[in-house]
Amino acid sequence: MHQLTLAEIARGLADKKFSSEELTKVLLARITQLDPQLNSFISLTEELALEQAKAADVRRANGESGALLGAPIAHKDLFCTQGIRTSCGSKMLDNFKAPYDATVVSELAAAGTVTLGKTNMDEFAMGSANESSWYGAVKNPWNLEHVPGGSSGGSAAAVAARLLPAATATDTGGSIRQPAAFTNLTGLKPTYGRVSRWGMIAYASSLDQGGPLARTAEDCAILLQGMAGFDPNDSTSIDEPVPDYAAGLNGSLQGLRIGVPKEYFGAGLDPRIADLIQNSIKELQKLGAVIKEISLPNMQHAIPAYYVIAPAEASSNLSRFDGVRFGHRCADPKNLEDLYKRSRGEGFGPEVQRRIMVGAYALSAGYYDAYYLKAQKIRRLVKNDFMTAFNEVDIILGPTTPNPAWKLGAKNSDPVAAYLEDVYTITANLAGLPGLSMPAGFVDGLPVGVQLLAPYFQEGRLLNVAHQYQLNTDWHTRTPTGF
Ligand code: GLN
Repeated sequence: MHQLTLAEIARGLADKKFSSEELTKVLLARITQLDPQLNSFISLTEELALEQAKAADVRRANGESGALLGAPIAHKDLFCTQGIRTSCGSKMLDNFKAPYDATVVSELAAAGTVTLGKTNMDEFAMGSANESSWYGAVKNPWNLEHVPGGSSGGSAAAVAARLLPAATATDTGGSIRQPAAFTNLTGLKPTYGRVSRWGMIAYASSLDQGGPLARTAEDCAILLQGMAGFDPNDSTSIDEPVPDYAAGLNGSLQGLRIGVPKEYFGAGLDPRIADLIQNSIKELQKLGAVIKEISLPNMQHAIPAYYVIAPAEASSNLSRFDGVRFGHRCADPKNLEDLYKRSRGEGFGPEVQRRIMVGAYALSAGYYDAYYLKAQKIRRLVKNDFMTAFNEVDIILGPTTPNPAWKLGAKNSDPVAAYLEDVYTITANLAGLPGLSMPAGFVDGLPVGVQLLAPYFQEGRLLNVAHQYQLNTDWHTRTPTGF
């Protein structure tokens, strides 16, 4: 039963082959048995899951239907869940039980999903390896000595190991797409404003976006349907109608114009990944797509701009964790200053502290123009490059990451080496564009992802292209040994 996709689960539940309660029990047992190897969960919510599963079964018995009614999922542990620990992977929030549900959580619950638990993540979503979590590193089910990617590494490892069919995740600079690539999943970062950020603990507010992680494009379509939509509680949410994503999965690729940026194939890209990307291009050509070389000339400036803007916003967002209102508080503070200093010093891990310092520096009076303002100008140039490219093509295609998943600990002494691995993903966040990663093959037994980018609000186009590709390839069906 654990091999079923969301789409298959929906059919099985509708045909009364099994109940949501039965399925939920199987998956909870599997998590208990297998997760100790992976560390993909921070909290399990067995009681809530069984309650929700039973309620979904009653709703189905009463004639209700819906692709998510009775579907087991998990939430990345930065989505607020009422009465349940919402840690953001940090000691700072280890004792924090959210007083309300994030919009994503309440919308999915209303659609009938069953929450199995909260997944592990890099502390405050800062990282690309899920090694900065206060709850320990997550292992990649394809090779337990390698990282699963980050920051949504717990969601990715759990779905890849068939502990559950799909999970929510967030992407500030690649944290849905990169772990999807590293674990052979399909992951979608929607257009900025497509999915509500209300109740999603902020890392970098102008870049953060929630989205689905699943095994197939079809399942991403199903989960996104339950997440997308206007939310008056989020001032950056956009009031655009939400299309029927699953119904849009049967479009022909005949004449689809795919742009391949020449800058993507420079030094730094593993040549074996370059070959797999060429294979995926050939596959899409067979389906009728037309390939065109394009240029994104400002791509080289994106990493430095992102690593100014994201820490700058983080330094502001994380100032609320001061030991006064919520979160960790140090013991026996001598005075207010001591309370702030020690609470923050004890509550935040080294990567978070590094980013707060970098961000506060970039925003400080003497350096604001030189760093933050400059980075914002680069951000506009990156966006303009995409706008020019999308005048000529419908989709942009390339690798999701320059290398496959690295060994645990391999980049711990050199944070910049890890930052450089984000080269292909962060431009979509800077521009606010939707992006998807899907399985494209293996290098040394480790999965490789191909990334597709589309114009604003064209999530449906990305999902359709990925679905057509998956109807004609079987990379996404491969299962890691032992799971
Ligand atoms: N690796 C990037 C960072 O550390 C992206 C993380 C994310 O998307 N949350 O900032």
